[in-house]
Amino acid sequence: MGRKKTDRFLVPEKGSQEEKIVSMCEALDFKGLVDSFKHIATRVNSENGTIHDFFESLLEKEMYYREEQRILSWVQQARFPFQKTIEDFDFSFQPTINERSVRELASCRFVEQGENIVLLGPPGVGKTHLSIALGLEAIDRGYDAKFIKLNDFIERAQKETGLDSSSRLFKQCARPRLVIFDDIDFFETEDNVNTMLFKIICQRYDNKLSTIFTSNRLFDKWGGLFGNRERAGAALDRIIERATIISINGNSYRVKDKVKRPEAVKVL
Ligand code: ADP
Ligand code: MG
Repeated sequence: MGRKKTDRFLVPEKGSQEEKIVSMCEALDFKGLVDSFKHIATRVNSENGTIHDFFESLLEKEMYYREEQRILSWVQQARFPFQKTIEDFDFSFQPTINERSVRELASCRFVEQGENIVLLGPPGVGKTHLSIALGLEAIDRGYDAKFIKLNDFIERAQKETGLDSSSRLFKQCARPRLVIFDDIDFFETEDNVNTMLFKIICQRYDNKLSTIFTSNRLFDKWGGLFGNRERAGAALDRIIERATIISINGNSYRVKDKVKRPEAVKVL
């Protein structure tokens, strides 16, 4: 079988010098340069720069552009429900959270070392916000991330026919350097779904890949997720063995100006 027919790299013969440069930038996929080479040339000229200065500035521009595009596309692939950063988080509102440890987590060493994070707490205390903020930090540092609500996972898993490791959903949850399983609060799942979830947890553990879990239930209520007691024990061991657990015990930010959570429901 021969090679596929492809675009050829042909130097343009027609057009002004500027048009030729633009068309060659496009053909070579130097998209960052198309709009900026003229501006860079003018600046380097006005500063009496050398040809090396010019070339360096061009390459810098292309590097910035490509990194920006990478981040944009990885954030899109992660499918965060909203985008919030650590800087957007008001730590003074949630004093049970240790700001220093969250900032340490934001360095993403936990991803490098394949550790997990479990964010526990009642609704509205910022579990999803913090998980997304850490996901954005991870992408910024070059790790791919995927956000998935447990409910959506279950819904999709129920629709899949072959629930094996070659399924799209399995790969999406098993492969990324960081996966965020949000809202672990659904406890009875069908056998094929909990088997898949169990396999994902095991594979991520074996491959030292990080997972963030958020939940408003304590671990002893997670059992039904994995089918039976033994599997639940095995899954939880793998999750907790290398995990930072952040337990948030505060008022909901969603209704911060309206009500304070009564003492009785503060405890998980
Ligand atoms: P949870 O996942 O714990 O139910 P969320 O993370 O969805 O809560 O938070 C609900 C909303 O309140 C989000 O818009 C989030 O950005 C915001 N929020 C929660 N806690 C804080 C906080 N301490 N500072 C700033 N915004 C917050
Ligand atoms: Mg949430």
